[in-house]
Amino acid sequence: MAVIYEKVALIGLGLIASSMAHAMRQRGLAVTITGHAKSAASRDAAMELGFCDAVFETAAQAVEGADLVVLAVPVGAMEAIAAEIGPHLKPGATVTDVGSVKQAVIAAVAPHMPDHVHFIPSHPLAGTEHSGPRSGFATLFENRWWLLTPLDGAEASAVTRLRNLFEAMGANVEEMDAPHHDLVLAVTSHTPHLIAYTMVGVADDLRRVTDSEVIKYSAAGFRDFTRIAASDPTMWRDVFLTNKDATLEILGRFTEELFALQRAIRKGDGDHLHAYFTRTRAIRRGIIQAGQDTAAPDFGRGGPAAKQVQNEGAA
Ligand code: NAP
Repeated sequence: MAVIYEKVALIGLGLIASSMAHAMRQRGLAVTITGHAKSAASRDAAMELGFCDAVFETAAQAVEGADLVVLAVPVGAMEAIAAEIGPHLKPGATVTDVGSVKQAVIAAVAPHMPDHVHFIPSHPLAGTEHSGPRSGFATLFENRWWLLTPLDGAEASAVTRLRNLFEAMGANVEEMDAPHHDLVLAVTSHTPHLIAYTMVGVADDLRRVTDSEVIKYSAAGFRDFTRIAASDPTMWRDVFLTNKDATLEILGRFTEELFALQRAIRKGDGDHLHAYFTRTRAIRRGIIQAGQDTAAPDFGRGGPAAKQVQNEGAA
């Protein structure tokens, strides 16, 4: 494939950034990739694994001369990075981020962007419960959505170029506005993660009562919760702190539905439960038909579809 950006700077060298680097390398989409992460250990790993050509102790050094800058740090770290790199960005450069929340990132980053750069926020709906520079792989974004939330007045050619990059990595790209993005993600990702964290917390409390039975007999449903609940604590803390309104809105609705189910169980209202589970089963079928998961009984774990399933951890 053809080069899309000559020089790409990755700020943050974790799961998403390292996967982007591997994908760009494998498909020849960039000539030079520079990087910066907080710790020397992560910077060294990026060099050792060969997904960066050079790493720098500061973000400002890493973005020098870059045609594309990717902010791939936890949402809460975006503002300080944006303030640091603002004066060092090359005129005409594109800056994007991969944060799981969009309105808060735009509020944090946009004020620090000079007029001569294109700031185009984005969010790949792809991830695993693993983090750090060693967790990335080139196929992470294949057949996954990558959402763009361009600001009013964004230059169409700059948006198209970024879209071309993400599509060349195998993603399906769509545009939407930031408030809509945050509401959709609160439903599809953020609230489910909170529920998984809660369920695993409850089971952990129970474990003290029943020794190791929770682990020993953990069935598929609970194991899926534990996998989601193993996601990076810093990243998820920031997601909930910054997508507060939408998450609280969806949690409120969730609680209402939960109370209704609780009532149906107490009253022995089997019709209510059956009708509810029939409706939710249809949603699952729709997801499989849309190619966003596998119908394999073991969810493809260990088999060729394992990577696909890992993407369920996406924020
Ligand atoms: P990750 O694997 O934990 O990596 C985060 C990276 O950011 C690390 O290299 C870390 O450096 C660096 N970092 C943190 N604070 C920094 C700071 N103040 N200055 C410089 N570097 C800093 O995280 P990730 O999963 O790639 O997530 C990155 C972003 O992508 C987040 O905004 C997240 O919301 C978003 N996202 C994640 C997923 C997912 O499922 N994981 C999916 C879509 C979007 P050290 O290694 O030195 O600590």
